[in-house]
Amino acid sequence: MEERVRHTPEADTEFRIHVRDLVRRPGTHREYSRDLTIVEALGTEVIGVPLGAAATLNIQCEAVTDGIWVSGTFAARAAGQCGRCLDEVHHDLEVPVQGLFVYPDAPHDEGDDADDVFEFDGESIDLEGVVRDAVVTSLPFTPLCEPDCPGLCDQCGARLADDPDHAHEILDPRWSALDSVKDSLRLSDKKES
Ligand SMILES: [Zn+2]
Ligand SMILES: [Zn+2]
Repeated sequence: MEERVRHTPEADTEFRIHVRDLVRRPGTHREYSRDLTIVEALGTEVIGVPLGAAATLNIQCEAVTDGIWVSGTFAARAAGQCGRCLDEVHHDLEVPVQGLFVYPDAPHDEGDDADDVFEFDGESIDLEGVVRDAVVTSLPFTPLCEPDCPGLCDQCGARLADDPDHAHEILDPRWSALDSVKDSLRLSDKKES
């Protein structure tokens, strides 16, 4: 708690891990397990871990020469909407989280802009960005309630999975045009007789 107060509290998030006990001590490592409540939704417009959801972060931090290597998992339940029938969809996620957090004075390899290398202040690591990317990457582009969800009836909007035999009388405008021709023919037949 004391630690939290000493560092800019406004920058503190539930994804921030204090690692001062590991800093500059290559070979040391520590495990962090944290249950947290999501304060800013993670995901895409169609599916994500909503505000207020419970989540678990299980992380191993290991001091290496240039920084701290972080690896572990983030687990939470994502909620969204089926892309076909608009029903609610839930996904239990357990996504891998990893990255190398290097000290500000660590030697930089020019052209070494690997996706999972980040700089940190040498005191605490904020995993929010890493977790956010890992969650977004693991979520389906088009969430589906079932892989073969038949979607909605394009005529009345009924959910077809609830009513597999759902059908409408085919009212093709071309047929109704013919019907009216037939009617008028019948009428003219009657007139002639
Ligand atoms: Zn569906
Ligand atoms: Zn219908």
